[in-house]
Amino acid sequence: MTNTERDAIQKNLEQLRTAIDAALAAAGRSRAGLLLCAASKTRDAETVAFAAGLDIDLFGENRVQELNAKAAAGAYGAKPCHLIGHLQTNKIRQAVGCGMIQSVDSLRLVAGIEAEAARRGICQDILLEVKLGGEESKTGVPPEGLEQLLEASAGCAHLRLRGLMTIPPPAETEAQARHWFAQARTLFERLAPRCPAGAAWDTLSMGMSGDFAAAIAEGSTMVRVGAGIFGPRQYAPR
Ligand SMILES: *Cc1c(COP(=O)(O)O)cnc(C)c1O
Repeated sequence: MTNTERDAIQKNLEQLRTAIDAALAAAGRSRAGLLLCAASKTRDAETVAFAAGLDIDLFGENRVQELNAKAAAGAYGAKPCHLIGHLQTNKIRQAVGCGMIQSVDSLRLVAGIEAEAARRGICQDILLEVKLGGEESKTGVPPEGLEQLLEASAGCAHLRLRGLMTIPPPAETEAQARHWFAQARTLFERLAPRCPAGAAWDTLSMGMSGDFAAAIAEGSTMVRVGAGIFGPRQYAPR
């Protein structure tokens, strides 16, 4: 990692923090209600370790193997790392134990994560990933499936259900983006009273590099930003 790369990340983050603060102020919100998750997929352990020393709250990875490899290398430092990408049921064993699994979207995942967390004697934080807009190709559970997942999770002693995550359909305007985020917030608020007593329903994970301001305006409690911190992703040929 070169000094130029370090400077670029630092500068990106300063600009991002300024833009986040502006969005928070416009919404009459304070920094206390918002976590900044650095989406670090494809970034190497050295880059992630550098970022861990900066003003970000946590990391998010898309792939279980990548998360575990960087965690083993100590890249996240003292900061948590969440799984934010789709989880296949055959990877549950490797995923349980991370800071939070944000992409729970099926009864099979609920049951599998509960079983593995029970086996290890731990309590796993999870979010339900909701799919807005009904896009066939996307992961996540449609809004009408949320209640069933919530009830199933609520019956699991080794799951702690913290809220919702969403990646909305692409939007061309700020108003369109806000429309989707407002839908997510409405679901988040509507489901809150359905949670069992003692559950910490406190996380609405939404907003990425291109749309975090709209998400913050609509009540996001966690934005997940990759390119806006680390620069454009370069996928190495395999
Ligand atoms: C990559 C990714 C992000 C961040 O996307 P950027 O556009 O790079 O900010 C956020 N959430 C998920 C689930 C991702 O896969």
